[in-house]
Amino acid sequence: MSGCIFCSIIRNEVKSVKVFENDKVLVIMDKQPITNGHMLVLPKRHAELLTELDDEYVGEMFKAAKRVAKALKGSKLRSGGVNYLLADGAEAGQEVYHAHLHVIPRYRNDGFYLHMPSKYENETRIEDLEKAAGKIRSKLQG
Ligand SMILES: [Zn+2]
Repeated sequence: MSGCIFCSIIRNEVKSVKVFENDKVLVIMDKQPITNGHMLVLPKRHAELLTELDDEYVGEMFKAAKRVAKALKGSKLRSGGVNYLLADGAEAGQEVYHAHLHVIPRYRNDGFYLHMPSKYENETRIEDLEKAAGKIRSKLQG
């Protein structure tokens, strides 16, 4: 798609630092890393959201993420754990509208936090979980 920075990177029109590539995905280093070694897994087909992407690309994204995370753990880069982060939509924090999966090396005191709302501490009643699940189940397709 024209005007999409990730499509431009995939077409080699914009420089990037590549880590892994196959016919479905490209893994590059994030230019604004949260921690050293932060990578982005890009599907080689333009889709704004993960939910708009063909399943074969979704599968390849997660396979590639697992592969580079394993390599990361075996590397000399600092990584006590990894966050796989995908922001699907503006309200989820998406900033580039070409689906992408962050692979973020994590370690103690790395300065990155997932802030939970205060109500997170409270367990939700089974009846309320059933209500929410029912609404989702009624829209499941295929
Ligand atoms: Zn794109």
